[in-house]
Order: sequence, then structure tokens, then C-alpha cells
Amino acid sequence: MASQFKWPVYIIGISGGSWSVIEPLIASGRIPNIERLICNGASGTVESIRVKGDKHFRPQTAWPTIASGLRPERHGVTRFFDDARDIKANMIWDVFQEQGAKVGLFGWPITWPPKPIDGFMVPSHLARDSQTWPSELSFIKMLDREGQSAERNSGNQSQGSTKQNRLKIVKSLLKTGLRPSSAMRIATTAARAIVTGDVEKRAILLRHAKLELNSDIFLSLVKQYQTDFSAFTTFLVDLISHRYWRYRDPDLFPNTDEESVIHFHDAIDKAYEHVDRIVGRVVAAAPGKSIIAIVSEHGMSAEPISAEIGKSRYIIQGDKVLEIVGLSSTIIACPVARWIAFRFQPNRDTQSNLAAKLGRILVKDTLLPLFQVHLHQDDEVIAKFNLHSDNEFYAKNGIDNLTLTYNDREFPISYIAKPLGSQRSAMHDAQALMILTGPGISAGKKIFDASILDFMPTILHAAGISVPSGLDGKVLDIFD
Ligand SMILES: [Zn+2]
Repeated sequence: MASQFKWPVYIIGISGGSWSVIEPLIASGRIPNIERLICNGASGTVESIRVKGDKHFRPQTAWPTIASGLRPERHGVTRFFDDARDIKANMIWDVFQEQGAKVGLFGWPITWPPKPIDGFMVPSHLARDSQTWPSELSFIKMLDREGQSAERNSGNQSQGSTKQNRLKIVKSLLKTGLRPSSAMRIATTAARAIVTGDVEKRAILLRHAKLELNSDIFLSLVKQYQTDFSAFTTFLVDLISHRYWRYRDPDLFPNTDEESVIHFHDAIDKAYEHVDRIVGRVVAAAPGKSIIAIVSEHGMSAEPISAEIGKSRYIIQGDKVLEIVGLSSTIIACPVARWIAFRFQPNRDTQSNLAAKLGRILVKDTLLPLFQVHLHQDDEVIAKFNLHSDNEFYAKNGIDNLTLTYNDREFPISYIAKPLGSQRSAMHDAQALMILTGPGISAGKKIFDASILDFMPTILHAAGISVPSGLDGKVLDIFD
């Protein structure tokens, strides 16, 4: 098919990217690549979006809004556990594909399960398994999961030496057609991160390694597949901002210990600096006349009084939960973010049976169910802790020493959940960011009265593709 788009498009998604952090970093010259894009293009604060009645701005609903120009009720992803099967709308890459573009997507949320496209699709951390398009790339998600389980099992030394890990990784990388020199560099970063000590420092290192690794692979794939529409999304800034805001702004958090402030006061700034280097590499890889855009789905700001319970955040051990309810053999527990997706062959009986059993795990002192349980499609049951600070008992006693019951059995919460790292100190806010550069886009233009809804129609317009009617977003007034 003849190409109907005028310019190639490169999108860098920075989950949680906020002007409140970017502005001082620009003032001190620490993020020159982002600064250059702002000077060369249009930029501003854009309003994020949430589902009516939800107290949070969620990446799950916001990223499909960025990609579709539609509100969550219209694109179909309204719940934290929805996936690409719930999407009812055309995404921006579908439109580009219809115009003959080759598409490369890396880490865009709610692209799992991936579908066949002319190009590549590597889903985000919200994926339930390692599926990619094409399937030869699934080792990337396997590496990702290895990194995740290294973090979840922090404290235990991981299996295998750095050298063995590296060899294994290099072999998979070479199978995808990456150059040996890139494969070697990527594998070294990956293998080193998997075995490093100290819990908090290791968590940060793992996340930086993941960005290094993923951006390297992304840029190699873009070259290899010759994509016209290429998007890379990173969650480094979001994750680091949640956990380390207290050290950046310790006055808001009176009980923060000084030692940690010394170690981590710069953690958020360093995350932005790292993303800035990736932006520089993407710009360098893009042809001279390209549309280059940076977008975040929400901003971040301090959360001095955490809505989370207890001093730590907890990771649910899905396999232990299945053992308690006696269903280990047929169901797979997939940890995703802070929740678990229990997956099985499509089966309504299994689904309602498992949901009922999970609902019978109670907290002994409150007699309340431990989990919020949701049914999803016909092959999943989703479980998330139902432990909130608005419950007086949990607020007063924390959750570290809860006793749980299932039928006649009693067991401590530590049997099915592990503390992992510190409590969050920042949360999502409404102020997302957008930076757009390219042929026809006015340099130094400020974006006003805009929403993440406007991203898709504005990019289509910039690329010379006619904007479909009936979108909730509009083309922004940023053109020469
Ligand atoms: Zn977040």
C-alpha cells in the first residue's frame, strides 16, 4: 500500500513525567535533550484523565486514551486489570498501519495480548506472560520477568553466576538478529543487575538496567524493522518517584532518616537524567524530518500521608495463595504490579470456584475478606489486597502481623505476602506533560487548555493523516 503519512513518528512515553521535576532540572542544565525538544517544539501541561468515581489517575486507562483520543468509557479500558482484549477503539498505530506504516511498539501499556502487525510489539510490565509480536522477541519479556523476580526475591541470591546468565541472554539476543556487539553490551547490563546486593540500591539499579536494556533493544529493533511509527514507554520515573520522593523533599516527611536522604535525595533526578539520555539516542536515530513527541499519562506529586498501610509495600505470593485454597495444579499465578492475575484455560466453573475460595480467606481480627476479587474475561480471576487505611483496625495496627483464616486453617500474612521496599511517598496527579516537535510544529509554542485526549489527533494531523471524526480529543493549535 502507498504511504499516506508524511513523516515518521517517534514517541517516548515517560510514565509519571512531571514539569515540577523537569523545570528545575532544565534550569541546572541536567536534561539537555529534553530541553532541546522543548525549544524546538510545542510543549505544556496537559490534563490527565480518570474513570468517573475513581480516586486515582491510572496508567491503565490513561495510555489507551493517549493512543485513541477517547475517554476510557469509549476505548473500553476502565479497570486496572483490563487488557488489550477489552479495547473497543482504533489505536493511533492502527491508523498508521492502515496508511501503510510499519509499527514498532515497546512497553506501551495495555498492548497485551499482542496482535500480529507489520513490525514489532513488546507489551508493558502489565502483561500476564512473555508473549510478543513476533514471538522470537519473547525473550525480552522473559528477561523482564527475571528482573522482576530478582527484585521480588531480594535477599536470596539469584541462581547462576553473572557469566552464565550473560551467556544465556546473549544467545537469545543473537537469535533476533541483533549485532553481537549490542547483544554483548545489553547482556552484561542485564546479568550484572540480577545479582547485585543491598535491597533498595539493587531495586534502583535493576530499574535503570531495565531502561538501558529495553531502550537498546528498542533502538536496534527500530533499525532492523525500519519502522515508521515507533513508540517506547518507560516506567522508571513513575516507579522511582513513588518510592523516593520522600528523600527529595524530606521536609514533607518528618520521620525520614538522614542516612537515606544522603543516599537517595538524587534518585528521582537521576531517573530523569537517564530518560533524557534515551531521548537523545532516539533523536539521534530519527531521520531529520521526523515527528518526535514526549508524553506522560499523569504527573506525580508528594503524598505526605500515604494511603498505603504499614511501613512497607507488600507483594502477594500467588503460588502460596493457590496452595492455601487447594488449587495449585491447574491455575497459574501471574504477579502484575501489586496484584495477582490467576489464569487458567477459559472456564466459567473454575472462575467462579476460585473467586469464591479467594473470597473466603479472611483477616481473623476484622473478619473481612483479605482480597478484593474480580472476574476478568473467562480465563482470569484478579486478586488485590483489601487492606485500607480507612479501616480503623488496619490503620492502628498495621498489617505486618495479621493472622488470616481459610476454613479451619490459621496462618500469618507473612505466609502469602512479602514486604518489599519502602512505602510510597508520591502519587499520580492530573498534570501530565506533552512535548511535540516536527515539520510544521511551531518552535517554542506553549500548549494551553489541553488534555492527553488531544495527543492522538494532534500527532495524526502533524503526520498529514486526516483525523477521524467523533474523537473526544482535538487537534492542538501548535502549527505554523
Ligand atoms: Zn505509578
